[in-house]
Amino acid sequence: MSRKKQSRGACLYCGQEMAKGGMLKHLTVCAARRKTMAEAKGKEIQPLYHLRVQDAWAGDFWLDLEMRGSATLNDLDKYLRAIWLECCGHMSRFSIGGGWGGREIAKKTRADQIFRPGVELTHIYDFGTSSETLIKMVDAREGQPTTSKPIALMARNSMPEAVCIECGQPAAWLCLECMHEGDSPGTLCDLHAQEHPHDNYGEPMPLVNSPRVGMCGYTGPAEPPY
Ligand SMILES: [Zn+2]
Ligand SMILES: [Zn+2]
Ligand SMILES: [Zn+2]
Ligand SMILES: [Zn+2]
Repeated sequence: MSRKKQSRGACLYCGQEMAKGGMLKHLTVCAARRKTMAEAKGKEIQPLYHLRVQDAWAGDFWLDLEMRGSATLNDLDKYLRAIWLECCGHMSRFSIGGGWGGREIAKKTRADQIFRPGVELTHIYDFGTSSETLIKMVDAREGQPTTSKPIALMARNSMPEAVCIECGQPAAWLCLECMHEGDSPGTLCDLHAQEHPHDNYGEPMPLVNSPRVGMCGYTGPAEPPY
């Protein structure tokens, strides 16, 4: 059995790409991030939490966020919806101590009321075709936030590599009919997406960088809101 290649991602401060496992360390020493931190001024000094956010099932999708202490879980919910999840305005919840079985945490809760070393929350979006996201506090510092927004995106996974089911070339499209009814990944290159015969779930959709691809009506854009 071949070992799965570790997911890679890029630091948003310096642009460097590296393995997921090296990113936490990198963010503590990144010179570009240090410069941004040193230049932050005019804002209230407060606890700032480094959160490692990842899809509960596919570790290929992950984010490193810095969340200010005064921001609420509602801010985090909005962020996750924008970058990864939003398809049709489903309900969502945060809990601690395991997914559905855990204790629900109100969205008005501030980051500084819930995050402690090692605390892990579960976020569930859509109670039918649910997407589960794990949010772990991995580090914290005291300082001025580096942006005027509640959350700063520090690093993000690179698009997982996918290959065309017809020819093995890099894929950029997804056929939902293959995926849901054909027991196939349904990933297609540009050429084979054009020629693909299925349309029961619509034309092949562009692959985007989100763990919700192929679920409910999700089609992206999977871009950060800020
Ligand atoms: Zn960096
Ligand atoms: Zn939906
Ligand atoms: Zn192809
Ligand atoms: Zn198909």
